[in-house]
Amino acid sequence: MISVRHLHKSFGAHRVLTDINVDIHSREVVVVIGPSGSGKSTFLRCLNLLEQPQDGDIIIEGTSLMAKSTRINDIRTEVGMVFQQFNLFPHKKVIENIMLAPMQVRKWPEDKARQKALELLQKVGLSEKAEMYPASLSGGQSQRVAIARALAMEPKIMLFDEPTSALDPEMVGEVLAVMKDLAREGMTMVVVTHEMGFAREVGDRVLFMEQGIVVEEDAPERLFGNPSHERTREFLSKVL
Ligand code: ATP
Ligand code: MG
Repeated sequence: MISVRHLHKSFGAHRVLTDINVDIHSREVVVVIGPSGSGKSTFLRCLNLLEQPQDGDIIIEGTSLMAKSTRINDIRTEVGMVFQQFNLFPHKKVIENIMLAPMQVRKWPEDKARQKALELLQKVGLSEKAEMYPASLSGGQSQRVAIARALAMEPKIMLFDEPTSALDPEMVGEVLAVMKDLAREGMTMVVVTHEMGFAREVGDRVLFMEQGIVVEEDAPERLFGNPSHERTREFLSKVL
């Protein structure tokens, strides 16, 4: 479904991603781990063209992101993204946050967008918050609204960049539970996280990145249990 080939990304003279080659299959959950600054976020951001790679190709369901004819907005509607910071619109109600993009980008009529938003709020367990403003939500609730908002576009792929890192510990579980449900329903997901329990339980594959390179990728039980590379072993010894 996603095929990344010889991807290179630099910021000025600073090379951040070097020759990344990764395939992500439909319905697969790929977890990306690695030290700070290793290029995890940049990699995710390249997958929906929030960053423009210098070289290589990313092909999503047969469409090359690098082709001149590819429209960024078409890619963004197919690839949902959830960030560490929830970035909800503070002056809009929860339900309006979720309805906005489908109405503006997909041109859905208001009643259809509202119906979808209510379904999604139920899915993330926040039906009773529809008419509230984001300021009245906890961090965990805000992040669940952010996930619902991304899902409202009916993306084929969801990218998560440390979705629980900004949360108080007691709220991490509720967000991971929503992500687990999504995975169970067969959503294709790429997840950058430090939650190794989630990686083991939900991940089909784990990529370990360091200094802009995918050092190793494997099924979670093998990568955590018996990593092939010394660098992976060293990193895991610090985080497990
Ligand atoms: P963390 O775990 O801290 O989130 P990361 O693995 O996500 O780290 P990136 O944010 O992808 O790492 O950053 C990789 C490198 O690219 C870092 O050295 C960072 O300083 C640099 N970088 C990222 N974004 C930019 C930018 N917009 N301009 C210049 N340098 C950048
Ligand atoms: Mg990051």
